Amino acid sequence: MILGGTTEARELAGMLVKTGYDVITSLAGRTDNPRFPAGIVRIGGFGGKEGLAAYIKSNDIDMLIDATHPFAAQISINGVAAASDAGVPLIRLERPAWEAPKGAVWVEVGTAQDAVDALPRGARVLLTVGRQELGPFLARTSCQYTARMIEVPAGLPDDWDVIAARGPFTLENEIALMEDRGITHLVTKNSGGAQVAAKLAAAAELSIPIIVIRRPLLPKAETVDSVVWAHESVKRIFRTG
Ligand code: NAP
Repeated sequence: MILGGTTEARELAGMLVKTGYDVITSLAGRTDNPRFPAGIVRIGGFGGKEGLAAYIKSNDIDMLIDATHPFAAQISINGVAAASDAGVPLIRLERPAWEAPKGAVWVEVGTAQDAVDALPRGARVLLTVGRQELGPFLARTSCQYTARMIEVPAGLPDDWDVIAARGPFTLENEIALMEDRGITHLVTKNSGGAQVAAKLAAAAELSIPIIVIRRPLLPKAETVDSVVWAHESVKRIFRTG
């Protein structure tokens, strides 16, 4: 079973199904229009680590792959505990974190609140943190926000400039967006991945400081950083298991 909700999870499901494995992908059910992977899909929480362990046991799951987003910490913590409880192997597919592009002003912070605190009064911010992290920014009204997200929640302030968009984004378009909106600061989580990385290069080119929220710490697990390596690990584990 793949704990999903990412592009990589979807790609891996496709590869594993093609290779002949029975694959269940689990989605949290947060988005209205999820892109469905190959294989079986189940949607919704399990009810904590105990619920996940019970699901693994009662559905004869042989292996768990945590391919969730690097910031989805709770489900990753639950995955490690539940796989151990149910006695099945777990691998984590985690895309590499971004590093500062050459010449960038790169400010790493621990939380969304820390990112807010790093913004000067009057900053014009390109905010690309996703719906769940908006709270501290909503409370900081002395900055102006252009917020880009895949799905826009209801009730955002009228003076927010909101863009509903899903990557990939090109360098050219990111530069145009930042120039057009007069952006002075970029705020992002360190999600990693190539699809939305152009904003970093664009900000560096325009000398716009990049405020980067660090990834949460996760419990130890066998970790691979690409879909291809995850596929190889699954094959190895089933060969030797
Ligand atoms: P989270 O905080 O780690 O998880 C909160 C709870 O949501 C979990 O305890 C679990 O509920 C349920 N859940 C999360 N992922 C699930 C999955 N794949 N299948 C079934 N239940 C799941 O997670 P999150 O940050 O809200 O992320 C939710 C989903 O969105 C994940 O699939 C993640 O890959 C995707 N996503 C997250 C982000 C992000 O920035 N956080 C960005 C892009 C995509 P129970 O305890 O009831 O099992």
